[in-house]
Amino acid sequence: MKTVLLKILGAFLATLAVTGVGVYWFATGPTNLDQYPPAAASPYHLPYPANKTWLCVQSNRGVVSHRGWEQFAYDFAMPVGSDVCAARAGEVIKVVVEHDGHGYKWPNNMVVIRHEDGTQASYLHIKKDGSRVAVGDKVTQGQVIAASGHVGNSMLPHLHFHVTDPDRKSTLPISFSDVDRDRGIPRMFKWYKPAR
Ligand SMILES: [Zn+2]
Repeated sequence: MKTVLLKILGAFLATLAVTGVGVYWFATGPTNLDQYPPAAASPYHLPYPANKTWLCVQSNRGVVSHRGWEQFAYDFAMPVGSDVCAARAGEVIKVVVEHDGHGYKWPNNMVVIRHEDGTQASYLHIKKDGSRVAVGDKVTQGQVIAASGHVGNSMLPHLHFHVTDPDRKSTLPISFSDVDRDRGIPRMFKWYKPAR
């Protein structure tokens, strides 16, 4: 009896493992790569300094939280207090840095920058009081705009970055001109050093 139960349990766990790998390969990560603008022409740089190499801990369509309207978001793990740089030039339209702590549905900190074409970049989980800019500031690409944090709905210190079209509450597929592989589209569990 015991052996039969163990066999059933084993089969169950094996199925779970196979399903898990299946979900990872087919349900997570960028898809339809042709919908992404070519990296060489991308107006975006990775949102951190050129001398830093950070791990992409969740890419587009990540199963943890990059689903639905947030499907084109990127998460880069970095220690609290790391420099966050403007991925693209624009005007600061929102700064929220009063929150501290993290947990499920925890209030989040952010800096939002509007670009010349009307799209908006959001930089989330910023450290409490970690903004280096104010609403109305014009920022250049690469300018340090904030100190990264671990605030809000966050499981580890990291920066969440996405670009939206404010008219259709949806994130946009973007690539980075300073990512010299993977078609400029960072992938989960890979390290990225800006190539610039
Ligand atoms: Zn995220």
